[in-house]
Amino acid sequence: MSSQPVIAIIGRPNVGKSTLFNRLTGTRSALVSDMPGLTRDRREEQADIGGHPVRLVDTAGLEEAKRGSIAERMRQQSEAALMAADLVLFVIDSRDGITPDDKSFARVVRNSGRPVILVANKCEGRAGEDGFYAAFELGFGEPVAISAEHGEGLGDLMVEMLSALGLKEDRENAAEPLPATERPIRVAIVGRPNAGKSTLVNAILGEERMITGPEPGLTRDSVPSDVEWHGRRVRLFDTAGLRRKAKITETAEKLSASDAIRAIRFAEVVVLLIDAERPFEHQDLTIGDRIAEEGRALVVAVNKWDLVEDKQQALKALRETLNDRLAQVPGVTLVTLSALSGKGVERLSAAVLEAYDTWNRRVSTADLNRWLEEALARHSPPAVSGRRIKIRYITQPSTRPPTFVAFCTRPEEMPQSYLRYLTNSLRQAFKLPGVPVRLNLRKGE
Ligand code: GDP
Ligand code: GDP
Repeated sequence: MSSQPVIAIIGRPNVGKSTLFNRLTGTRSALVSDMPGLTRDRREEQADIGGHPVRLVDTAGLEEAKRGSIAERMRQQSEAALMAADLVLFVIDSRDGITPDDKSFARVVRNSGRPVILVANKCEGRAGEDGFYAAFELGFGEPVAISAEHGEGLGDLMVEMLSALGLKEDRENAAEPLPATERPIRVAIVGRPNAGKSTLVNAILGEERMITGPEPGLTRDSVPSDVEWHGRRVRLFDTAGLRRKAKITETAEKLSASDAIRAIRFAEVVVLLIDAERPFEHQDLTIGDRIAEEGRALVVAVNKWDLVEDKQQALKALRETLNDRLAQVPGVTLVTLSALSGKGVERLSAAVLEAYDTWNRRVSTADLNRWLEEALARHSPPAVSGRRIKIRYITQPSTRPPTFVAFCTRPEEMPQSYLRYLTNSLRQAFKLPGVPVRLNLRKGE
């Protein structure tokens, strides 16, 4: 093996190999086309993966020799590339699901005995979800979900590539830092008008930074603020700033709801700020539901705690409302604070970091299956139309939020109540409070 590892990108035509090649090498030259099999010859280029130079090979498409000599040549090229590779990126098009061609190429790749990373491309939006799950069938383990065209998931892919090659990120020489370890954690503070969002942001930043002007519709660049909490970088997005940019014809309530929805989309952790004097009004709960639906980590902060007389009673009532009305995220952290005095702000930062870590938690497949065995023994799956549904295996394909897939017979007939039992037990066993936990069922023997 030469000093630079060789990585071959393999897959049937049109799955996005050239697009991925261009992304990883930073070149624009390659032909990208909707016509299957247009990329002809094998291209090689150097790429930087976490500070390590590698040689990347784009094969012309691992097409089976059905269509005469060009196809035959392409197949030979792919096989030659496979033989020379230290690592194979086997690419599928998640929007197409798994085709018979994918399966036969998977065989060729497997027979090569090379280490393989299964790459589920075209995963932007939700269109690729089914294909992503179907890809488990190929037997290469968990696919890495990416969108080569939109540049999503490439950091995750690079992390996997390094680990498959037995390399560690070389920060000094890396063109771009890899994700998760380096990127700031994106945090949005949302809540009704007057809940105290601006005051809280000021308290966090420790200065009168926010502009509060008398003119309606005052525009203020909504530059996010970077802070450091316990040595970790956090990027704060304040929706109070966003609000002033929006149209002034809308009512304040409506505006803050739409700001919140926008903020939730780009945040990783959302702090739902509640006014202790008017806790959990309709809009707070709507925003809370939305955060859960979008799969974000949530921290509930109750502001203006200085104004509350019977704190014990108030806390009890808040907990009850949370358990009752935000049942999708049981165990969510509740922080009481006073943005005005700064009391409790420190606890809020700790809660945000903890929620972020929970949201990113990965549970090993071995631990999951040990848990599954116990959970099934404690409470066996129901019999539907006289036959018991069997659950064989569980894995965690992704984090952010923690998402699990259990393979079972007749998934469509599984009662919701049993699914809820499993989800809750999973949440407790692996300590996943306050984040949405997804448990999906797939058919599998
Ligand atoms: P190759 O034949 O496997 O090299 O595939 P190409 O890279 O030529 O891509 C085939 C088609 O898929 C082109 O139209 C690309 O623009 C498109 N494509 C590539 N990656 C993505 C993606 O992540 N999402 C979507 N929606 N389309 C993609
Ligand atoms: P926003 O609309 O959510 O950005 O709310 P502001 O930050 O503008 O605060 C609305 C009002 O609540 C202001 O008059 C603040 O002084 C007041 N306020 C904010 N935080 C606190 C707090 O912790 N205690 C008390 N007593 N008042 C607060």
